[in-house]
Amino acid sequence: MTTPSPPRRVSTNPQPETRGMNFFDADTALQSLLSLYLPAADRDHLTPHFHKLGALVGDRLDDLACTADRNPPVLHVRNRQGHDADRVEKHPAYVEMERFAFGEFEMSAMSHRPALGWPEPIHHVAKYTLQYLFAQSEFGLLCPMSMTDSLTRTLIRYADQSLLDRYLPALLAEDFESAAQGAMFMTEQDAGSDVGETVTTAVRDGDAWRLFGDKWFCSNADADVVLVLARPEGGGEGTRGLGLFLMPRLLPDGSPNRYRIVRLKDKLGTRSMASGEITLEGASAWLVGDLDRGFVQIAEMVNQSRLSNAVRAAGMMRRSLHEALCVSRNRKAFGSNLIDLPLMQRQLLKLLLPTEQALSLCLFTAVALRRADEGDETGMKMRRILTPLLKFRVCRDARKVTGDAMEVRGGCGYIEEWIEARLVRDSHLGSIWEGTSNITALDVLRAAKREEAHVWLRKELSANLAAAHGIPEEFRVELSGLLDRAVDLVARTAAAGRTGERSARQAASALFHAASAVVMAVEGAALAEEKGDARRLLMAKLVVEQKLTASDPFMEIDVDTEAADAEWLLSDASIPLGDVSTRLKKR
Ligand SMILES: Cc1cc2nc3c(=O)[nH]c(=O)nc-3n(C[C@H](O)[C@H](O)[C@H](O)COP(=O)(O)OP(=O)(O)OC[C@H]3O[C@@H](n4cnc5c(N)ncnc54)[C@H](O)[C@@H]3O)c2cc1C
Repeated sequence: MTTPSPPRRVSTNPQPETRGMNFFDADTALQSLLSLYLPAADRDHLTPHFHKLGALVGDRLDDLACTADRNPPVLHVRNRQGHDADRVEKHPAYVEMERFAFGEFEMSAMSHRPALGWPEPIHHVAKYTLQYLFAQSEFGLLCPMSMTDSLTRTLIRYADQSLLDRYLPALLAEDFESAAQGAMFMTEQDAGSDVGETVTTAVRDGDAWRLFGDKWFCSNADADVVLVLARPEGGGEGTRGLGLFLMPRLLPDGSPNRYRIVRLKDKLGTRSMASGEITLEGASAWLVGDLDRGFVQIAEMVNQSRLSNAVRAAGMMRRSLHEALCVSRNRKAFGSNLIDLPLMQRQLLKLLLPTEQALSLCLFTAVALRRADEGDETGMKMRRILTPLLKFRVCRDARKVTGDAMEVRGGCGYIEEWIEARLVRDSHLGSIWEGTSNITALDVLRAAKREEAHVWLRKELSANLAAAHGIPEEFRVELSGLLDRAVDLVARTAAAGRTGERSARQAASALFHAASAVVMAVEGAALAEEKGDARRLLMAKLVVEQKLTASDPFMEIDVDTEAADAEWLLSDASIPLGDVSTRLKKR
């Protein structure tokens, strides 16, 4: 007789799931801000697309991203007959994600031609909204998508008509099967941050050039069209001696170009996407723009990618926050839902604040970029300084937010079948590629020193603050003073040359926090007037208290105030301006 086995115990407190959630519908902050930043007609037309992508994040896209992460691309250097093949085999899950990004949502082409049924290129705010949503499932693929977008922009700006005629149609193709993808090969073993050390050479060959050298980090390694930095023979030293070249994967006659993918990198994150090492063996390439302005011209592509990186980091933080809120609202410990425990509330507010700062400044910068593209000088200057500022601080914050959100899920957060572990792995890359944190913080100082961009930013933010209705006067004065101090710190640090470099990150962080507090306060005032919700004013106050004025580690927490803040901010209910007005006074 067999002994009956005891029934398996089923958990009464299982891990909460966000599966099935629509990540656009659930993002009330994003929806409110779109009402401020995206014109109504664009918003009405594009909201169904946001809604559709938000549903995919909670469902199919999440599955694909998880599968692609576990099945990284494979390099086949030869075919079975022994001929050089150099083929990157991508997992079908990755290819299906490509279909969504490049095909269905037209994300790489939407800034350069009509897309998504809209008669003209899509507003930058809408483009970055789609990237922000997509990144909540998949980060890696957005690198090729963004490089294709920014390469196209750079070509349109600098390439001659014959190159545009040859390559633009494929880069902008509506049909996914025939669409080309882009990449950027700059980095060499001795030339990463210090691009001026580039040794790849370009030798003239009739109206084309031949490239020789080794590129050490090449994401989207098998891209169809690549921009490469190389030093023309006899070119000067440093970045001034560098030219920018368009190198196609296939030559105009259809034969493979003369370069090899030597191996693929075994990466911590973005495992779905192929980053490789490439040897250039006399590859044919065509000059883009002026021969001695290669570095300046590639900066256009790098800057676009930097902004996209910040937006993706903002998306990863939002996903982390959604997961953390879902867990803490639905999981119990010590007889309570986690969200009702004071210390958990404190941690959740710490996840929420950088997430909201990032969203506000990303959308604000998308508008600045649009103004810049329309020729507005304030837009150009603001875009110049905000791009490295966001890349530096938002990507840095994402590493912490994703890590802390992982802890909110407890042990399961560390297990790869939940998304938190992948978010932690992916988020770290944002701070390294396209310029490390040190390099982007130094670029903030460069923008101040060479273009006085900090002065233009202050002028615009001060004007916005002065024009906003409903910000209590005491808080307005406090914000204005903090903005002045941050801008002055950037100015002094930038003027101090090599000595000032030591303070670059401190100054950039101060400017990021002051700028985000002002932007959030202005948004909060507008939303209080429009929808009766002053929550972003309260968030601006928290930025001031926690990021700009708190310094004493022995200061006791004002527990009643924090409990009230948590009750307001951890729910989606509107907060009337009258209720937070007292809170906005100086403590
Ligand atoms: C997964 C992945 C994919 C990539 N894809 C691409 C790609 O597609 N195309 C491409 O061109 N590159 C790519 N890169 C390369 C990436 O942009 C570089 O790794 C990055 O710019 C840093 O360069 P480096 O690795 O040579 O580090 P280094 O330049 O050697 O930097 C090392 C450290 O020194 C610091 N440092 C450098 N200069 C200063 C300074 N003046 N002051 C203070 N600190 C400083 C840096 O902040 C960093 O912490 C990729 C990298 C990775 C990891």
